[in-house]
Amino acid sequence: MKKAVLKSYAKLAIRMGVNIQKGQDLIITANVNDNYFVKYLVEEAYKAKARKVTVDWVSDEVDYLTYKHAKLEALTEFPLWKEEKLKYQVETLPARLYIDSSDPDALAGVDQEKVTAVRKIVGPITMKYRDQMENKYQWCIIGIPGEAWAKKVFPDLPVKKAIDKLWDAILEVTRVNGDPIENWNKHNAFLQEKTDKLNALNFKKFIYKSEQTGTDFTIEKPECLVFESGNEKTISGVEYNPNMPTEECFTSPDPKTANGVVYSTKPLSVMGSVVSDFGFRFKDGKIVEVLSEKEEEKKLLEKLISIDEGASRLGEIALVPFSSPINKTGILFYSTLYDENACCHLAIGRAFEDCIKDFTKLSEEEIKSVGLNNSVIHVDFMIGSSDLNIVGETFDGKTVQIFKDGEFAI
Ligand code: ZN
Repeated sequence: MKKAVLKSYAKLAIRMGVNIQKGQDLIITANVNDNYFVKYLVEEAYKAKARKVTVDWVSDEVDYLTYKHAKLEALTEFPLWKEEKLKYQVETLPARLYIDSSDPDALAGVDQEKVTAVRKIVGPITMKYRDQMENKYQWCIIGIPGEAWAKKVFPDLPVKKAIDKLWDAILEVTRVNGDPIENWNKHNAFLQEKTDKLNALNFKKFIYKSEQTGTDFTIEKPECLVFESGNEKTISGVEYNPNMPTEECFTSPDPKTANGVVYSTKPLSVMGSVVSDFGFRFKDGKIVEVLSEKEEEKKLLEKLISIDEGASRLGEIALVPFSSPINKTGILFYSTLYDENACCHLAIGRAFEDCIKDFTKLSEEEIKSVGLNNSVIHVDFMIGSSDLNIVGETFDGKTVQIFKDGEFAI
């Protein structure tokens, strides 16, 4: 990839993604193989007057070996110094930039019991600190091709070609061609217009139907929940773009209201393994049956939804046109960042408290009383198809077609 293009992408991530502020610290999480790109991010962050940039290096190979060989007692250990590190971040509020290049199958073959146990123990500790920082700092996730990831997406190409092709796709769907910052200003304005329409209509209930997939499903949301999209703002008023790319208008549902059957329309990477052709049957918000003909995959999904109480209920409803740039590429990325922006989706697990109207002005008790779903996981799965119809019922009793044949109808 050309140096100028990498620099342009780095600039987009620093200026529009995390929108680093003068004097602010930045923590970048990246794979050890990504140094060739990370150096441009660091350079751009200092150009934007960051105070200090730190890189947390990670490695798929090391993760795999750790899960394979370390004992559970060692894996679940969370020493005091790690907590101190999180406390320090709560005090200093650095911006966080995550570079995703991992192998979707990185943990395939390791004992899933271990992965689940680590999540169950480490998840709540890190969540305690993340909650204290919510809406106070800017964060952003972007992707760059990793070798194993590129080979997974383009298995028939030699590795170098696969990487080039994945780079092209990433830059295309992230609107990096031309003037990326101008592109993103326009795109954010478009998403805002759709979001405003959805919120003005004030929907209570959503009725999903697709003959192609067999989806036949209803869900409701509390009136105080609003749709959001595109860029977000910290409490102190700094705008940032948490996901690049993003195509979705999303909100959180009442976790006791999902009923019926939904079928996934794209494979999903679960705890390091890929599952495909699955569905869930819901009753009063809870998944009562995992629908899959593959015994191994069914077991994996059953494990995922039993991590905690909230893991078997929904935390997100998201609307994305079937004609999105990501779907148009026809590529299955095996990465939620991209695939979740291909079409309409739902997520099991943790809900978005910041989708509650006037969230920043509410007390902790007021937020709790809304009764949104809580979990250590948040896993998106795609349900969009070219014949997906979504009909909405508003709080004042009107019926409005929201999606017709996979596209916005409002
Ligand atoms: Zn989403």
